[in-house]
Amino acid sequence: MSTKATVEKLVSLCKRRGLVFQGSEIYGGIGGFWDYGPLGVELKNNIKQAWWRAVVQERDDVVGQDAAIVMNPTVWRASGHLDTFADPMVDCKECKKRFRADDLVGAVPAGTHGHEAAAKVSRCPECGGELTEPRMFNLMFRTYVGPVEDDASTAYLRPETAQGIFVNFANVLTTTRKKLPLGIAQIGKAFRNEITPGNFIFRDREFEQMEIEYFVKPGTDEQWHQHWVEERYNWYLGLGMRKENVRVRQLDREELAHYAKDTYEVEYLFPMGWSELEGIANRTDFDLRRHAEFSGRDLTYFDEESGEHIIPYVIEPSAGVDRLLMAFLMDAYDEEEVRGETRVILRLHKDLAPIKVAVLPLSRHEKLVPPAREVWGLVRKHWMSQYDDAQSIGRRYRRQDEVGTPLCVTVDFDTLEDEAVTIRERDSMEQVRVPIAGLVAALRERLETA
Ligand code: ATP
Repeated sequence: MSTKATVEKLVSLCKRRGLVFQGSEIYGGIGGFWDYGPLGVELKNNIKQAWWRAVVQERDDVVGQDAAIVMNPTVWRASGHLDTFADPMVDCKECKKRFRADDLVGAVPAGTHGHEAAAKVSRCPECGGELTEPRMFNLMFRTYVGPVEDDASTAYLRPETAQGIFVNFANVLTTTRKKLPLGIAQIGKAFRNEITPGNFIFRDREFEQMEIEYFVKPGTDEQWHQHWVEERYNWYLGLGMRKENVRVRQLDREELAHYAKDTYEVEYLFPMGWSELEGIANRTDFDLRRHAEFSGRDLTYFDEESGEHIIPYVIEPSAGVDRLLMAFLMDAYDEEEVRGETRVILRLHKDLAPIKVAVLPLSRHEKLVPPAREVWGLVRKHWMSQYDDAQSIGRRYRRQDEVGTPLCVTVDFDTLEDEAVTIRERDSMEQVRVPIAGLVAALRERLETA
């Protein structure tokens, strides 16, 4: 994280500049749900695009898909979510606050989790009151399909996108005629009725995931696992995240999910400490085996080399878009003194910046408006851009800095004579004069070269 960023500053910037709003704010909000404003949706789309590009577009061994959010409920029996996707919940008998027992783990010796932790923490961390016994609480949101609300019509909002990939494994394999190793990538909403959502958009009840299920031959799984850990770690650095704020941690045996043979986490140094951005798990053949068992379908792969039918192992890099968005913002946030004023600046990577170019006439003078509009017309065909003519030019530069716009193009009175404009760069504040005829090429050079 930037030394100057705090969650409070970030929340305030996000609200002020239309990045993230509290969900249903005019009705007092609803815990764990957030809305993305005009700039937030751009940033979110850019994160998803950067991911898709790295894991699908630029690889020949990964394809995409998009499965439905509501699935046949048997999926969740097969995956184990109906039985095990639960957190231990405790309530304070005095102040009535509710906690996730494993969140209280900091208060007990390291290496104690879940029930064990809850048993050790018997006092409320807020008021010191006595806590109830932990109760297991299933995190899946329930709904009904069709007009009758009964057990037979009960369905669930998916708590992860992964299962939509496992159930389509055979479909994708036969239609693409691909061989192992083969990855299937998907971006989509997931829902978890978290006991304690919080830390802004870090832990939500509705969020978006970017997941890859990478199917490999058993025996090659460990090597592919290492490959993905490296790939994913480097992706964050490639998008400008500071090295000192990102780390990879191998989970201890007792932290592993029931299906995992081994898991690494990419973690970010948030104000609340190192926290997971992405999990990269070796899920073995657990999911395909279970779905084959519950569906009665053959989900094996014919390995031409050995002449045998095998059940592939799976490496799963799974990241949350909202969490990444928060981490990228924290990392990019900076404040510096410029001529006695504090300049707030988001040093976002140019691929992530919501607005790439702002076109700013020096003033609203009638002679400047037509050429400025013309310049904007040239730019907007290529990049997400903004036209801003309100207030002083200095103020407008600051407004763009604050949302991470890499380049501003200024149209001034000289433009009327020399048919040139000024490009001003966000981080260095350097300004160069370029002819309008060469503007698109000059912007492209700055925005699209690595
Ligand atoms: P945690 O331990 O933080 O609850 P998890 O280990 O249950 O997370 P996974 O099931 O591995 O999370 O989900 C993969 C990714 O999805 C996480 O790394 C995170 O980025 C994202 N994610 C999971 N739960 C949430 C949530 N409630 N809000 C926002 N993002 C989430």
